[in-house]
Amino acid sequence: MSKVNPFEMAQQQLLDCAKILNLEQGVVDILLQPQKQIQVSIPVKMDNGTTRVFQGFRVQYNNALGPYKGGIRFHPDETIDTVRALAAWMTWKGSVLGLPLGGGKGGVICNPKEMSEGELERLSRGYIRALWQHIGPDMDVPAPDVYTTGQIMAWMMDEYSVISGKNQYGVVTGKPIVVGGSLGRGDATAKGGMYTLREAAKELKLDLSKAKVAVLGFGNAGTFAATLAQEMFGSKIVAVTDSKGGVYDENGLDIAALADHKNKTRSVIGFKGLKTLTNEDVLALPVDIIVAAAPDEGAINGKVAATIKAKVICELANGPTTPDGDATLHKNGVHVIPDFLCNAGGVTVSYYEMVQNMYMHYWSIDEVYAKLDKAMTKSYHEVLAASKEYKINMRQAAYVVAVKRVVEAMKVRGWV
Ligand code: GLU
Repeated sequence: MSKVNPFEMAQQQLLDCAKILNLEQGVVDILLQPQKQIQVSIPVKMDNGTTRVFQGFRVQYNNALGPYKGGIRFHPDETIDTVRALAAWMTWKGSVLGLPLGGGKGGVICNPKEMSEGELERLSRGYIRALWQHIGPDMDVPAPDVYTTGQIMAWMMDEYSVISGKNQYGVVTGKPIVVGGSLGRGDATAKGGMYTLREAAKELKLDLSKAKVAVLGFGNAGTFAATLAQEMFGSKIVAVTDSKGGVYDENGLDIAALADHKNKTRSVIGFKGLKTLTNEDVLALPVDIIVAAAPDEGAINGKVAATIKAKVICELANGPTTPDGDATLHKNGVHVIPDFLCNAGGVTVSYYEMVQNMYMHYWSIDEVYAKLDKAMTKSYHEVLAASKEYKINMRQAAYVVAVKRVVEAMKVRGWV
């Protein structure tokens, strides 16, 4: 998936923040490593009668602010270092939004595209059987991530409920509505990102109704983001990529038709006979906004960053920019809405789902969106204010806001 080691990248970002905040060594040492890492072997009976053993992980990074929280990825290129990095970023993500949650992440090395529904169900239930003692509504609450779906969350919740002998909706989030899911969770990540983009545009005096947008990654978050940018602001989506390449039309792409084309052919390439571009080509296009939604950690490195003409980068994916990419973007005046702020809408609505599960009382879609808008807007402005106060870039500012809260919680708990 990525050429850089994402966990080293996450550690480097934290060290940078530790310097800005002048954190003491003991605090830094705690924050540099996960509190707990669990690796399990999951045997699954395959449809052809054989048994295959899959490797699964759960990394529990920090729970100073509350129960560990974060998604589970099913991906053939999953590594413990990716899961570690994502678990660290979840810690900062919950904190920057002011949620009473810690950070964790899980993963299974598998290729869901080559598995039947039955095999996927047995793998999902197997993951919970292997890990159930380490998770729970007030301990660690998983959620969907790359290639894990609401259906997978439903199987996991059911398996955990069966093991514990009672209904346990609150053990995972991102569930289907009929089994305790929250309205608005489906497009929450993209929606939250669009709220931060709206605020950034106000700050930069950028007219979003005239803006040209390139969307990197046409998966779940990217597809919603493209549609929402059009619907909410009237922006023009001129380029879209996926793992096979990208397409560009300076007059704007028909997103619904493109999604249809991708459903049929499994890729955006070949759409209306447009030329195929590489990710690097698309990043260098004359656009106003780049929505980075591809699960390709470190894709925006120093070299690539130097070619970017956009004024704003919305990081809907986790970890798209390397530290030297950040330095170049900052030097060139590109406004980055950093990943764990920009994509925090997902975990924020997950938190709302946990609250609704606990109270057994469910909110309307308008209530969810209104709360999400308020939360994202407030956090964006807190980060912006920190970037001005400390004269640092937006990523450093997001770290400053998030790390300060976690450190304060660790101190009052008496850990340091
Ligand atoms: N996987 C999503 C993320 O990276 C959501 C996590 C959650 O809802 O707990 O933010």
